[in-house]
Amino acid sequence: MPYKQTALVIGAGIGGIATAARLAKNGYDVTVLEKNDTPGGRCNQIVHVGHRFDIGPTLFLMPEVWEETFAALGEKMSDHLDLRRIDPTYKIHFDDGLQLELTSDIGKMQTQLEKVEKTAFTGFLNYIAEGSKHYKMSLDKFVGRNFYNIFEYFSLANLPLLFQLKALKKHYANTGKYFKDDRLKAAFTFQNMYLGLSPFDAPATYSLLQYTELAEGVWYPIGGMYTGIQSLTAIAENLGVRFIYNAPVRKLETDGKKILGALLEDGRRFSADIFIGNADLPYIYKELLPDKAEAQKLENKLYTCSTIMFYWGVDKEYPQIAHHNVFLGGNYKASFDQIFNEHTLPDVPSFYIHAPSRTDPAAAPNGQDTLYVLVPVGHLDARTEQDWDAMIKRARQTVLTRIGKEMGATDLENHIKFEIIYQPKTWKERFNLAKGAAFSLSHNFWQVGYLRPQNRHQKYKNLYFTGASTHPGTGLPIVLLSARLTTQRILKDASTIAVQKMGKPVLNPA
Ligand SMILES: Cc1cc2nc3c(=O)[nH]c(=O)nc-3n(C[C@H](O)[C@H](O)[C@H](O)COP(=O)(O)OP(=O)(O)OC[C@H]3O[C@@H](n4cnc5c(N)ncnc54)[C@H](O)[C@@H]3O)c2cc1C
Repeated sequence: MPYKQTALVIGAGIGGIATAARLAKNGYDVTVLEKNDTPGGRCNQIVHVGHRFDIGPTLFLMPEVWEETFAALGEKMSDHLDLRRIDPTYKIHFDDGLQLELTSDIGKMQTQLEKVEKTAFTGFLNYIAEGSKHYKMSLDKFVGRNFYNIFEYFSLANLPLLFQLKALKKHYANTGKYFKDDRLKAAFTFQNMYLGLSPFDAPATYSLLQYTELAEGVWYPIGGMYTGIQSLTAIAENLGVRFIYNAPVRKLETDGKKILGALLEDGRRFSADIFIGNADLPYIYKELLPDKAEAQKLENKLYTCSTIMFYWGVDKEYPQIAHHNVFLGGNYKASFDQIFNEHTLPDVPSFYIHAPSRTDPAAAPNGQDTLYVLVPVGHLDARTEQDWDAMIKRARQTVLTRIGKEMGATDLENHIKFEIIYQPKTWKERFNLAKGAAFSLSHNFWQVGYLRPQNRHQKYKNLYFTGASTHPGTGLPIVLLSARLTTQRILKDASTIAVQKMGKPVLNPA
């Protein structure tokens, strides 16, 4: 029997599962160690007395990237996932009573936008055209490839792209080119929150998000987002990957040049030829590796926001709550400053509500509702006084008041059968997310591409990373790309080593 290279993956988030499956497909013997009792990480679910909640992701975006992952594993996505397009994508509620339904129905968009501002529809078409250009160019030139050195990233060929992608312009300011009305500028920039970024700091490149949602579509798999995790895990297992749950890694042992083994909290020790960290990258540097200076550099980087979550099992149905609902608070700029600079809950919080049973009735018992509420808030900050109990209370009251006033759901509080709350400390404790930052490291100009922590450790050459804090960044499809890029890098390294040792490659880089 030829020797099979062994790989140990730390973490069964979507990045860990997809990388494990790709490596197994390429002939590796793979084991995944996960601290929790189920796979999925942030893309997990809570099922309680007939109510099914996605705990994190609710927007299934960029289906073509998912499709590519399934295909690379020898499968067809449509054999595993029953996707439904959600259109209108969101209902947006402004605090002055204006409501806007973002939809791919151009006629409906025109009617709604022209009611707010005469020239807004033309602005919208141009804005989406710019988003389309940014999306295609980014995927092709930045997000969908590895950068092996700084010269590849800042090459003369790439420099014009910085300007074409408006990487040095701010997203909110750039939106002013297309819309004058502040509410429209907000409607087409709040999505930066998915990257955990303020639109006042985010590069204008991110107009690609609005293009993605409206043109490529926002989808939902029947059975919930977790079906994506269940399918990929089952495929990985069929390819021979071993998943070990309740297996928190405490330390990565090194000889100063490479990683030798992973030591678990319970004393067990696993060794392998290569190691892939899917747990949050800054956490791995800080808690599992010995080099404290490197960890400190990461500590000083910019992190995304966190969230307060309410998962409500409700004994009444509220059909007026759409599948995706966004409530924007008053002073848009001040609210981002409070989240990103003061690391707190804004005075007038914005929030998002997900009601999956509008599309997938099995998410709640008959005649009842399953409601997920996400309130963006600052990440944990040891230097700031943060009274989470008070912030949770105020967030809850804001949500109930606005749903009551603007949707007529005045009796909602009385119909909440049970409530589960997540807060920054939960994200940190449950998934080891540094600073409880729900979307990992931030994605400003200095923390993307080659400037983001690389997917291979500089010193320990058999330690790789996959997931939201390495290249290309956060979001399920982007993490699936990360799994592809990390696998490509591992196979490229293996091939180089094989050439050096034997004069010919043993694995086919794919
Ligand atoms: C509230 C919220 C809403 C979101 N909404 C969307 C959305 O609508 N659409 C979208 O595409 N994306 C969304 N995202 C982003 C998306 O969830 C993440 O980008 C993605 O799930 C990250 O996957 P990952 O594999 O990088 O990391 P994780 O999911 O964090 O997985 C890492 C795994 O490592 C494990 N681990 C940690 N430490 C150890 C250890 N010491 N030993 C063993 N295991 C360990 C963790 O338990 C976890 O399972 C959302 C995220 C959040 C939090």
